Amino acid sequence: MSENSNNYLNFLNKQQRKAVENTFGATLILAGAGSGKTRVLTFKLLHLLVKKLASPNQILAVTFTNKAAAEMKSRVSNMLNFPIDKMWIGTFHSLSLKILKSHYEKVGLKKNFIIIDADDQLKLIKKICEIEKIDTKEVSAKYYQIAIDRLKNKGISYKELKPNKYRQNDEELIKIYKIYQEELLRINCADFGDLILFCIKLFKKDEEILKKYQKLFKFILVDEYQDINLIQQRWLEYLYGGNKNICCVGDDDQSIYSWRGADVSNLLNFDKNFSKPLIIRLEQNYRSTKNILESASTLIEKNKGRYGKRLWSENKEGEKIIINGFWETKEEATFVTDKIENLISNKTPLSEIAILFRVAAHTRSFEERLISIGLSYKIIGGFRFYERKEIKDMIAYLRLVNNQSDDLAFERIINVPKRGIGKTTLNKFNLIARKKNISLFDAAREFISITNTKTNNEIFNFVQNILNWKKIKEKFDHIELSKVILEDSKYLQYLEKEEKNLKTPESLSRIDNINEFLESLKDFENLDGFLEHVGLVMENITNTSNETISLMTMHGSKGLEFDYIFLAGWEEGVFPSQKSIEESGNKGLEEERRLAYVALTRAKQKVFITYVNQNRYSYASHDYNMPSRFINELPKELIELNDSSYLADNNFLDEFIKLENISDDLITPGRKRLLKKQKEEIDWDINQDIDAYSNLNEGDRVFHQKFGYGRILYIEGDKAEVDFEKGSIKKIFIKFLKVNP
Ligand code: ATP
Ligand code: MG
Repeated sequence: MSENSNNYLNFLNKQQRKAVENTFGATLILAGAGSGKTRVLTFKLLHLLVKKLASPNQILAVTFTNKAAAEMKSRVSNMLNFPIDKMWIGTFHSLSLKILKSHYEKVGLKKNFIIIDADDQLKLIKKICEIEKIDTKEVSAKYYQIAIDRLKNKGISYKELKPNKYRQNDEELIKIYKIYQEELLRINCADFGDLILFCIKLFKKDEEILKKYQKLFKFILVDEYQDINLIQQRWLEYLYGGNKNICCVGDDDQSIYSWRGADVSNLLNFDKNFSKPLIIRLEQNYRSTKNILESASTLIEKNKGRYGKRLWSENKEGEKIIINGFWETKEEATFVTDKIENLISNKTPLSEIAILFRVAAHTRSFEERLISIGLSYKIIGGFRFYERKEIKDMIAYLRLVNNQSDDLAFERIINVPKRGIGKTTLNKFNLIARKKNISLFDAAREFISITNTKTNNEIFNFVQNILNWKKIKEKFDHIELSKVILEDSKYLQYLEKEEKNLKTPESLSRIDNINEFLESLKDFENLDGFLEHVGLVMENITNTSNETISLMTMHGSKGLEFDYIFLAGWEEGVFPSQKSIEESGNKGLEEERRLAYVALTRAKQKVFITYVNQNRYSYASHDYNMPSRFINELPKELIELNDSSYLADNNFLDEFIKLENISDDLITPGRKRLLKKQKEEIDWDINQDIDAYSNLNEGDRVFHQKFGYGRILYIEGDKAEVDFEKGSIKKIFIKFLKVNP
């Protein structure tokens, strides 16, 4: 499509055009996915410039990411054929920074102030806790960091904070918040939350400055409006106050950041916050095939409390949504990469293919597979599996056990988790090591033999642990070894504490990553094999080209589009996430459903959904996974389901919900397990020969639907370890074995 500055309005439909041409006053475009909201904003920007209603620096455009801002800038600049570097297009944070750079002294900052990132934030808070003697064993420094961020998202300063006896550690929090804020100013720094808060402070305090910006910004444009938080809304209201021209686009069905303070009520209260808005709905979807659109719309209709809209499309019918169930994750990854190879051989560009995950840890088996078949990929908005902090930590432990001269590994983990062995002590080790030409590990041993400091005990324990683990490595396999390390080093405990205290997506995903890590070890015969593999994988990581497949979380996929979308891990508990439902009940479930809607609507041509029946972390629990309830919420006639595992019945979840006649929204995990057990018992009665069950003996030849024939090695409770003739040994529920067929 060639879009130039003269005929751009022809590239819009009637409603879009109305939205673009309604330049003055408040406009809200409330519309579903792929209906051209972002396109309207871009064209509106262009329109304002072409019609000379504003000069480039008089338009303020707020987007969700800096990448989206760059995209918008380049599209407008291409259409206009002139550079527009000076434009105010960016995220709330980057635009706030731009404002503050001219007025830093008004909020107590000095010239060249620095923005600190989350790591530095945490360091500062830790230091404050130390100095103030605030115990961080039970409630960690990280907890305070998150709590302060959340308060800032709501625009609450420490002065306004009153201790609440129902909230944990409020007095400490207020104290830390206050000192933290004073310290930031003292060292001439601001954190991300401050950027927006300081702007608001500035606007409140200095009417002249506020007026200047209100006058400057003739027009304000906002993308992804459904996901802005309270403080961002205030920020907009201040700047809108002058010319009163604002155009926001959003979709209540795509609000997926409530855990970060996003408040969809901003969207619902638009007419209260901005005067006499024109509300426009866009109903035509240009992105997806009819089938994809219909499926996503049917799914989202299950949510209550939505504006309610139905999109239509002139696009072709398209193919059905392909849903595949597998027994284990490896098969899932192989299936997806096989399909991708097919697409590529049919000339689909890699950049039109994306795999989306609910849980970041689940990229691992896909990454392994992509690497092994030599397809390049990138992870959008996150780290590759083996680059994640907790994985690198665990690998460092294993490397040091494997080779005590590995100084890099030693340095990485000597104080992780905290053992009070800081930089000073490490420097001393370094001196000894250099002088005697020995490893840091040996230097540490030397150190405790010649000194008597209060950390000696910790160092001794660490050294002892490494030596013990070395012995374990000789007797047991690398999986056992890793589990012992996780326990003895207190690393797992440290992650669990973080998870309990923080409940952020990062802290929650760390344990998932560790579980996935243990799972990955199973692919190798021994530690050497594993470490060698990691070395190779890391090497491959630095070697990527531009043309790649994209892997990302569903959250990270907002606003993007691809021809082919693979949605992996659609299992109950994973998606919808058990944690969201446990913590926020029906609200949590509805947010998960919106996430499913976002995920499905990223696709232009075709969607593949996969799930795995075997529990992903089978050593942790003997449960089976059920296919996600969202699969059942898709229109049956628009999906094609292929399940190569047991739970081949598409209506399985429906049936088992009906079984107890309760609403599917209300199933707690405990309840679910109970139901599942009942269902298994019913299955058992129907399908199995009771006598065969009780008559099974060690040594019996049995048949398993998936693994074929084998012989029982031993029986333990309701499970048997079976040596299958195809060459694998597996623990299987007895009820799934047929005796002596
Ligand atoms: P999301 O809710 O996912 O952010 P959106 O509403 O912002 O979606 P866009 O990304 O703006 O939708 O548009 C979706 C796709 O449809 C884009 O490829 C866009 O170029 C195309 N599109 C939108 N409107 C039109 C139109 N009038 N004619 C042709 N293509 C269009
Ligand atoms: Mg968009």
